[in-house]
Amino acid sequence: MRGLLVGRFQPFHNGHLNVVLSIMKEVDELIIVVGSAEKSHSLDNPFTAGERILMISKTLRKYNFPFYVIPIKDIEFNSLWVSYVESLTPKFDVVYSGNPLVRVLFKERNYKVKRPQMFNRKELSGEEIRRRMLSGEPWENLVPKEVAEVIEEIDGVNRLRSLLESDKL
Ligand code: NAD
Repeated sequence: MRGLLVGRFQPFHNGHLNVVLSIMKEVDELIIVVGSAEKSHSLDNPFTAGERILMISKTLRKYNFPFYVIPIKDIEFNSLWVSYVESLTPKFDVVYSGNPLVRVLFKERNYKVKRPQMFNRKELSGEEIRRRMLSGEPWENLVPKEVAEVIEEIDGVNRLRSLLESDKL
């Protein structure tokens, strides 16, 4: 049994990690699709696909569970998106998503779609973590330590702040 989890992971946080850990109890292998792979260097999507792959792979390495991280760019053709995902991933049996559009698109193609349990959605959201990075509030406790290390390695917080500065000019 192979599961599929799609996300933007801007950045990969403890809510995503909890979802992955609970999915690991239900499937034998997990495909993690890094969506919006073409997007980076913006306030909503600061990290590249490669950086997000690093965050996820470094975090999950210690769990000794088979997983594949696959970057997929967005296409302006929602009705074809599931076929597009299928063409780039190994076969999968069940899709995990809380995103309404993702759920509808896979359900219409007759996939079994499960909604992951939400974990502390108020704090564990990419938007909240990016807001904290910009305002100088603590955010490191909301992400796995490997993710904080990747963000430090790429000077990600300064990237985000620089993007805000250039937006104001
Ligand atoms: P996300 O990173 O916001 O979330 C990923 C998953 O984690 C979601 O299922 C979400 O419900 C879950 N999650 C988030 N916070 C959580 C928490 N605290 N506790 C538990 N679960 C939590 O990403 P997303 O918005 O779901 O990503 C969908 C991706 O699919 C995007 O990249 C989008 O562009 C892409 N997409 C593309 C097309 C297209 O190209 N036409 C169509 C549909 C979707």
